[in-house]
Amino acid sequence: MRYVSTRGQSPAVGFVDAVLAGLAPDGGLYIPEAWPTFTAEEIAGFAGRPYHEVAAAVIGAFAGDEIKPAALLEMCREAYATFNHAAVVPIVQIGPDAFIAELFHGPSLAFKDVAMQILARLYDHVLGGQNRTQTIICATSGDTGGAAVEAFRGRKNVKIVALFPEGRISEVQRRFMTTAAEANVACVAVQGTFDDCQAIVKQTFQDQVLRQAVDLSGVNSINFARIAAQAVYYFTAAVALGAPLRPVNFCVPSGNFGDAFAGYVASRMGLPLGRIVVATNSNDILAHAFEDGRYARGVVQPTISPAMDIQSASNFERLYFEAVKREPVETARAFQAFNEAGAIDIPPQAFAAMRELFRGVGVSEDETRRTIVATLNETGELIDPHTAVAVAALRRVEDLDGPVVVLSTAHPAKFPDDVAAASGVTPPLPRGAADLAERPERFDRLPAETETIKAYVRAFAEA
Ligand SMILES: *Cc1c(COP(=O)(O)O)cnc(C)c1O
Repeated sequence: MRYVSTRGQSPAVGFVDAVLAGLAPDGGLYIPEAWPTFTAEEIAGFAGRPYHEVAAAVIGAFAGDEIKPAALLEMCREAYATFNHAAVVPIVQIGPDAFIAELFHGPSLAFKDVAMQILARLYDHVLGGQNRTQTIICATSGDTGGAAVEAFRGRKNVKIVALFPEGRISEVQRRFMTTAAEANVACVAVQGTFDDCQAIVKQTFQDQVLRQAVDLSGVNSINFARIAAQAVYYFTAAVALGAPLRPVNFCVPSGNFGDAFAGYVASRMGLPLGRIVVATNSNDILAHAFEDGRYARGVVQPTISPAMDIQSASNFERLYFEAVKREPVETARAFQAFNEAGAIDIPPQAFAAMRELFRGVGVSEDETRRTIVATLNETGELIDPHTAVAVAALRRVEDLDGPVVVLSTAHPAKFPDDVAAASGVTPPLPRGAADLAERPERFDRLPAETETIKAYVRAFAEA
């Protein structure tokens, strides 16, 4: 399986190279040259299988012959054994045709663990074989950093630098990053927004000298292995609810659009889906893109669902590439224009193609809080603010047939203050994480300046 860049100026690479590189050298995102597919029988056969077996089948379709199937199966088994629920991603019913898929039973209590636990093992496997050490730099709006640090801490062939926007993530989110004592972990509080952090990471990658010197790699949601790993629960949830015999809908709390894009990937692989509802908080650039055809960034507003406080959704470039029939020149033009002007109009045909699967809904802070209370009252389930954004969005979409699965992306205990303020109930941390508040923290503070952060990364990598 070969991977091409959405901007068409980088040579095609194999799965391992696409994963280790993260972003393509031309600034585009890697995407498979052609989508692997499953037959309806193969999909039906996923029903009732252990999660790690479905994961190995789905990820294996993207790895091709670059990772031995037995090795991949073993990595998947280990990765999902770190989850504290035997189903890995259990499904809970919240209404006649409405369900929640709980993606938060991993070590850092957020859905990022689902992809990061397998990604770290893939890195170890591949780098160990090449006798090579890489430096991972990762911008986090809160949960990626914790999941990445949990997955990569103590690994031999990887050093990791996590950048987070100071004061814009919850204490629990911060502590999942900053309490790792291992020497291969560095955390930086950046005096800026998540978009600043993400821009710094992008610019750092464009510095070819530094990139080579420290063997730079990225594990943000631009990394295709994460998308592949996230496609897995679309399969497990959908077959549990009757796929492939009937289409299932998904409602996805979205920021960088990696999670929702994984649903698109599952559908291209043959999984029959109804709609994917892209739910955003008041940072609603994506909701507008799918409703008005205009992709225009605004000013980032802090919300109680901070992992989605994003005004520039990296993975949208992949969908755009698909929607313009894989035309790299047009994709490069559009995203360069977006970077410069902050807005693009989606061409009508591409917009129509996106609307075949996607709908967008933006949800206010008030609505999010009310939904936490209403869901608790109506179902007894205490949901976190990100999940609440999606449950609220679901109530507003009318043209859905059949079951809907809301992806529940964080454990409520990851956002205890906002959940308690909305509902009057303070969610306890699950067992394993109960002493988090007592663990010592370790992080550095830096201004949102690319050069300063590049120097920091170099020093850490070479130490
Ligand atoms: C990362 C994250 C999201 C957004 O996912 P994207 O793939 O960036 O769209 C939603 N909720 C939580 C809790 C997250 O950590």
